[in-house]
Amino acid sequence: MTSPAIDEDHLRAALRDLLQIPSVGGTSAEADIQWHIAAAWQAEGLTVDAWPIDLDRVTAQPGFPGMEVDRRQAVGVTATLAGIGGGQTLLINCHTDVVPPGDLRAWTGDPFIVREVDHSQAFIARGACDMKAGVVAAWAAVRTIREAGIRLRGDVILAPVSGEEDGGLGTYALLDRLAELGVRPDRCVIPEPTGLDIVPANAGALTFRLVVPGKATHASRRTEGVSAIECFMPILRALQDLEARRNRDVDPLMRRWPLAYPLSIGTIQAGDWASTVPDRLTAEGRLGVALDEPVAQARADLEAAVADACRADPWLRDHPVQVQWWGGQFAPGRTDSADPLLEDVAAAHARITGRPPAVYGAPYGSDLRLIRGLGGIPTIQYGPGDAATAHTADEFVRIDEVRTCAEVLVQVILRTCQEA
Ligand SMILES: [Zn+2]
Repeated sequence: MTSPAIDEDHLRAALRDLLQIPSVGGTSAEADIQWHIAAAWQAEGLTVDAWPIDLDRVTAQPGFPGMEVDRRQAVGVTATLAGIGGGQTLLINCHTDVVPPGDLRAWTGDPFIVREVDHSQAFIARGACDMKAGVVAAWAAVRTIREAGIRLRGDVILAPVSGEEDGGLGTYALLDRLAELGVRPDRCVIPEPTGLDIVPANAGALTFRLVVPGKATHASRRTEGVSAIECFMPILRALQDLEARRNRDVDPLMRRWPLAYPLSIGTIQAGDWASTVPDRLTAEGRLGVALDEPVAQARADLEAAVADACRADPWLRDHPVQVQWWGGQFAPGRTDSADPLLEDVAAAHARITGRPPAVYGAPYGSDLRLIRGLGGIPTIQYGPGDAATAHTADEFVRIDEVRTCAEVLVQVILRTCQEA
């Protein structure tokens, strides 16, 4: 099999270029980066389809996976390297949105100005590993095949998307677009940061809100009121017990994680005055969903735990906590470990690095579940960078991993689409 070389200078320049666009979900730069990539890939001779996503229509559909930022616009893009026919179609899906940088004081520099460290072998910036490195690896793979003059039988479709971090709007709209055009990819790789391990399964994650009622009174007579903060304490304990119960027996693919399906409270707001007993607390969190567990069952599990805790409390018995499901609703997803896609990626990885990749499920939700679940397309994640540095200050990626990923993707493209 032909194995053309990756142009590392181009790869580095492309990555630097994408990292300087602050494409935080919900900002105008999230759309800018999509147009920017569409133009770059069109200029390279790929067949580009770029369209403004009809947000009103997409968000009103019953299967819409949710959205947590106020988004006025979103852009869909596909760039196809067309084959002559007769091979399989490979979809490479990558999100171009990033999460906000967080506390800027925790960064050693500007999150949207690339800093090269370790003798220029690693890039630090928001989105470095999650997942602009993956976008660039996919780009480099297709570019390498084109530049080498290799003709393919099947198509390669690069699909950068927005809105992955807050639910999956972009991939949802992409699947809609592909179905409308009658395009049905045979397999999909998502170069999310897996440290070049193979991730064929994702746990789910459901965002929820709890509204805990209390009864306000002056703090000097607090025993005549009911503190919503104190009411929340037995609820929190019930949720901790629920988490332990839900992690007692986990799927073998998830056993490497100390906690496969976390239940975590991320925000709490209560009260509006220091000397008033608070009459309302809202807490928002995230419920992990087990592999193969129906989302409705996971929701019912949490609702039952909250309802049981309320029944045991003299105030909450008559003023129960409300549970609301809002924002990102990530179902779990899984591609069968025996699918030939895993074998092909593992073989290419082993050929290039000299060792087999690890295979396991990830504890987070991603677009994998939409492409696998709604699209019915065998999908794995395989990409550069360590997910543990994603969403952190000084997020980074190593350039040698980006190059290795590109080399593996070249092999996977040749294997899937076949040289003409
Ligand atoms: Zn990601």
